[in-house]
This record gives sequence, C-alpha cells and structure tokens, in this order.
Amino acid sequence: MSETPYSYDAPASQALFDRAATVTPGGVNSPVRAFRAVGGTPRFMVSGTGPYLTDADGREYVDLVCSWGPMILGHAHPEVIAAVQDAVSRGTSFGTPGEGEVALAEEMVARIEPLEQVRLVSSGTEATMSAIRLARGFTRRTKVIKFAGCYHGHVDSLLAAAGSGVATFALPDTPGVTGAQAGDTIVLPYNDLEAVQEAFHRHPGEIACVITEASPGNMGVVPPRPGFNQGLKDACSKNGALYISDEVMTGFRTSRAGWYGIDGVRPDLMTFGKVMGGGFPAAAFGGRADIMAHLAPAGPVYQAGTLSGNPVATAAGLAQLRLLDDAAYDKVDAVSARIQSLVTEALTKEGVAHRVQNASNMFSVFFTDREVRDYEDAKKQESYRFTAFFHSLLADGVYLPPSSFESWFVSTAHDDQAVQRIADALPAAARAAAEATA
Ligand code: PLP
Repeated sequence: MSETPYSYDAPASQALFDRAATVTPGGVNSPVRAFRAVGGTPRFMVSGTGPYLTDADGREYVDLVCSWGPMILGHAHPEVIAAVQDAVSRGTSFGTPGEGEVALAEEMVARIEPLEQVRLVSSGTEATMSAIRLARGFTRRTKVIKFAGCYHGHVDSLLAAAGSGVATFALPDTPGVTGAQAGDTIVLPYNDLEAVQEAFHRHPGEIACVITEASPGNMGVVPPRPGFNQGLKDACSKNGALYISDEVMTGFRTSRAGWYGIDGVRPDLMTFGKVMGGGFPAAAFGGRADIMAHLAPAGPVYQAGTLSGNPVATAAGLAQLRLLDDAAYDKVDAVSARIQSLVTEALTKEGVAHRVQNASNMFSVFFTDREVRDYEDAKKQESYRFTAFFHSLLADGVYLPPSSFESWFVSTAHDDQAVQRIADALPAAARAAAEATA
C-alpha cells in the first residue's frame, strides 16, 4: 500500500487504487484523477445522485466537479436516465446514420446562430484535432496560434503550454510530441492581443487559425478581457485565418448558447463536448457551412469515427440539452454565485489572500491577491494553500477538483441542503488554508 499523508480514511479507495496501479499506468485513465497535485488517495466513486457522489468506502460528497463539467443537471437525472434506458433497449451501436444524431445536431444548431453545421465525434480532443485539420485543409496553411494555459485536449500539436493536467505535472511539453508536430504551433500569452497581431505580422499568409478556449477554465477560470475574443476574430478575418472557439467546457454550460451566448463573437469554427454528451462520450465540431463543406464525404478533408453519433450518447445529450432551458441556467448561475460568496466569506474571515474568478457559473479560487489574467499569473498562486483547503473539504464531504488549475462546476441539483453542507465545511478549510506552509 502506498504511503501518503491523506490516505488514512479511504481504505476501500486505496485498495482499488493499488489494484488499479498494477494494470493501469498511475492507476487512473486520465492523469488529474490521480490526485498528484494535492497528494493522497483518489476517491473511487461508485454512484452519483443529484449533487452527491458516494465513494467505495460509502462516504458521500457534495460534488463540485460534476465529471469536469458534463453533469449540469446533477447525477442520474431521471429524465436523462430514462432516455438512455430507452435508447439502450433498442441497441447500442449500429454504425449507420440514425435519427438521434440528427436531432442532437438540430438542437445544437438551433441554439447557436453561427453554428450552421456540426459533425459529431466522441471526445473533445477529437473535436479540436479535427477542427484544426479542417482549418488547415480549408486555408491551405499550416500554422496554428494557441494560448499558454489553454487546454484543447491531448492533440499532439496543441500540447504546448496546455494548462490543467499538464500544468499539474509541470510538463511544459510532453515526450512523444515531435518537433515537427509542435513546430507549427505558435504559443502566445493569453489576453495579449498585441502578441497576436505581431504573430500575424511575422508569419504573413502562414497562419491557418487561432484556437482559444471561449473562456478558459484550464488554468483555473481566467475570462477573456473585454474585447479580447472580438480582437482575435478581427485579426483572423483581416489575415485570412479562421477563428476557432473551443467551447468544449463552456458550451451549453455558461448559457443556453455557451460562451457565444455571452460575448456574441462569431467563430468560424467551434468545438463542443462535455454537457452535450449528457455524461456519455459525445463531442462535436462545427461552424460555417462553407467551411464544413470541405469535410469528407462532402469534401476532401478526411474525418471519421466508428462510434461517432452513437445512439445512446446522443440520446443522453439530447435529453440533457432539452432540459436546459432559461430557468435551468438561472438556477445554476444562482447556486454558483452563492457558493462563490461563501468561499470568499470564509477565506476573508481567515485573512487568506485569494481571488474567486468566474465566467458565468464556472469559477475557481486562486490563492493570490492579484487578478489572474494569464497562465503566468495563475502559476504565481500559493498552490500549497489549495492543497490544505482541498483536503479539509474532502474530509468534510465536499469534493473539489484535485488541482488549483481547474474550474469548479455546479448543477441544477445543487440545492439548499448541498449548499449548506459546503457552508458548514468551509470555515475549517479556510483555517487549513491560512495555516498551510509552502
Ligand atoms: N477543450 C477544452 C476546453 C477542454 O476543457 C477539454 C477537456 O477538458 C478538451 C478540449 C478535451 O476534451 P476531452 O477530454 O473530451 O478529450
């Protein structure tokens, strides 16, 4: 059994983690789940209901991760489960077109005006990878601008200064990505329009696209400064490049129409995942019909997937989206605001320097007294305070993302009782953060 300071109270999770580590690298199937940034035993969850998760030791937690965003209606929402059961009873995969994928695409297109056509895929990574390929195929250019601290999945060419999971491990890049793959990626500081203009100036006619998180949540929550996204769009239009807004995290979460519904900047291409899959592997990319027409079989840019548009995943996603009306977003926004102010109140009371930053109902806490505008700012926070804060909340039944570089997520299911549990746990967590030493 591995010895860690925080493994004492999760024996069943620890036993599973030890078993997992013999058959899976690091014992997990996605690195941030391993708790490396905060230490201790990752909790192996066995069930989820509404705002709660229950682990293998039978302990219940208020979930502020929501599967990293998708579970915006909470866990096991009865209508989503019913839609899934209905779909499953008719078979799980046909490898043919089906009505469910048409209905999901129609729902997405109806919500987001610049989204004229979509192609369904199975993960956000696939969505961004395919969008970049399409942008290169459409423009016949090679270079891509991305921003430090923005994560777009583990696409080879985009794993440069990629925030979150990569930030957690302090890997500026990853072995396995060749110089050629990363060589066409230009990484710029976030929120810095001058740097973007300079890059276009230095590489005339070479830049295929700018890809940005619509509002970043992978270096913690760092919203675009006013005019930043519009500035990107304008620079792209002026220089014959495409503006790709990655809404995998923000899409159908930050509003009915995602971040586009908030800033109204029209992307040429967009990427989606998380909420649109209702907890199943469904994702998408889409945008201008004239660009999407270049995609196979309509056009020459190849893209495909055995499980793309899977009937169970599309049923779950469609059921979830149809339940997400204005009232649902009002509810998520309100509960998010309440939790943000409870966190501020508790940390302020203990004199802990911090900033709660939000993008609509997505938010995160930085242990610093300065505004965080980019990845460099985010890295200056006192992450050791987050570790103490995280473990105190975990011990008291509140499950935060196990890294200070991640957004927190809430759902329509986070009711008064769940919020009260968080409120009860926060004073001790704030004290632990205050007392923490580097
Ligand atoms: N883009 C953004 C903005 C994300 O936050 C993520 C995942 O967190 C991805 C892309 C990759 O999505 P997936 O993990 O489904 O491959």
